[in-house]
Amino acid sequence: MKALLISKHQKEQSLLKPLLDVGIELSVWHDFDTDQLGTFSGTITRTLSPIDAAIAKARAGRASTPGFDWYIGSEGSFFSDPTVPFITRHHELLVALPSQHEIPVVTEVSQLISWAIDQEVSSEEAFLQLIDGDLSEGKEHAFLSLPGAPPQERIEVASGREALVKAYQQLSRNGELPIQVMSDLRAHRSKNRRQLIEQAAQALAAKLATQCPNCGQKGFGIKRLLPGLPCAWCLNPTGAVRAQFWSCPFCNYQEEKSDSGSGPFADPGMCGICNP
Ligand SMILES: [Zn+2]
Ligand SMILES: [Zn+2]
Repeated sequence: MKALLISKHQKEQSLLKPLLDVGIELSVWHDFDTDQLGTFSGTITRTLSPIDAAIAKARAGRASTPGFDWYIGSEGSFFSDPTVPFITRHHELLVALPSQHEIPVVTEVSQLISWAIDQEVSSEEAFLQLIDGDLSEGKEHAFLSLPGAPPQERIEVASGREALVKAYQQLSRNGELPIQVMSDLRAHRSKNRRQLIEQAAQALAAKLATQCPNCGQKGFGIKRLLPGLPCAWCLNPTGAVRAQFWSCPFCNYQEEKSDSGSGPFADPGMCGICNP
């Protein structure tokens, strides 16, 4: 089987191997300007939801280059976690659109992150502290932008410490303080981000290799995990995973499979009654 990835920022690094492991050869279409759907730096505002943006990329690839079995679009997003205040959630989404079907196979993964910076600074000392901490984690780049400025007037710097410091000094001479400093989260600049994309790619590859027992199409796989594993002491349901919910996006066939990794009972530490 052959798949086409629509990507501008070298995401294929994270997808090639997981897909090849299940016999899918990946090509990349770089010509589509995915930034027209919105950018991380905010220079172009995003209007589509992440899933619609990913599907739009896959559709554009299919319209331009027929002959592939799957068209893969991706979209990452970062937002404040609604359940954990002041923590950022990093979410990666991959969709695989078949050549002759409008319904995509979708995988999503997410993680809470502490490594991304998005902070206002108004002194050079605070600025240096922030970017040196960021650079020490092996990242080479960061964005600078002017809070409240229209997107097209924000400033983007992406060439290491020297350029960042120079840009800061320029802005501060112009009286543009405070300045907003953000990590560069584009896939080709962020190792942390690529690792999560690879996880999503493994989940997608597993689905694209699995036939639906009902309609026979490939794309069958885990849609979500179901909580409710009984507590080992009181047998009441806990938040621990009890089963996997599998579904087929094409015919909606569904199946619940027990999650063998978790054993028959949950640790009482997970129980709201034994360990409130
Ligand atoms: Zn099916
Ligand atoms: Zn209990």
